[in-house]
Amino acid sequence: METMELKIGWLYPTLMSTYGDRGNVICLQRRCQWRNIPVSIVPLDQQTEASEFQGVDIIVGGGAQDRQQEIVMRDLKGAKAEMIRDKIESGTPGVFTCGSPQLLGHYYEPALGQRIEGLGLLDLVSKHPGIEAKRCIGNVVFEITASPLAEDLKTLLGTSPVVIGFENHGGRTYLGNVAPLGKVIKGYGNNGEDGGEGAFYRHAIATYSHGPLLPKNPFIADWLIQKALEQKYQEAIILTKLDDSLAFQAREAMFKRLDLHQ
Ligand code: GLN
Repeated sequence: METMELKIGWLYPTLMSTYGDRGNVICLQRRCQWRNIPVSIVPLDQQTEASEFQGVDIIVGGGAQDRQQEIVMRDLKGAKAEMIRDKIESGTPGVFTCGSPQLLGHYYEPALGQRIEGLGLLDLVSKHPGIEAKRCIGNVVFEITASPLAEDLKTLLGTSPVVIGFENHGGRTYLGNVAPLGKVIKGYGNNGEDGGEGAFYRHAIATYSHGPLLPKNPFIADWLIQKALEQKYQEAIILTKLDDSLAFQAREAMFKRLDLHQ
């Protein structure tokens, strides 16, 4: 049997790592290594040629401040934007946090300055209500409802997939014709108004839940790894189980602290 390996493309690690989202990259990397799946991490940034985006099997994009988002958007024009669009459209799995989904949408209106045009890949818009407005900060808990992700995770877990995360954003996101990733149980989610959190398209997970997302909810990391391997090797993949008891203990403690019962 061919040795399986994965390449993780990390969007703008220097400019888009303000909020600890490298936790997601490390989690994917370690969970592959623990299963003896060689994994490499490719930074996709200002120095990268668009063609290098082609070879990646999973894409991770983190959050950024408004200023950095603007720089990224200026760089992410033309061939690079096309490459990312093609990858996501053709089913490459990815996890995009906060500033990244804002960039994948139609536009982001920052607190100060001009509207930043996005890739328009996700039918959503994001607007910052102004520097006086309260930021959406804190623990966020939501149930994943997007199909078929919700069903896949339910089969894996034997229960509805509930995510524990942490959010920190000023922008509010409003969805058009794209499914929300989930339903907020606690916290703000996309805008603090409509109860929606994130978005889900093809195999791309867009969320306001930051870099502890995958370490705290390892079943999502495994879903991404499984989809990436299936996409790359065109065969059904069953991943070896890992001991996630610590992560689940941490989840339990958090549920208690937030006075939520699983
Ligand atoms: N600049 C964006 C906002 O405040 C994104 C922040 C983030 O990525 N955490 O909404």
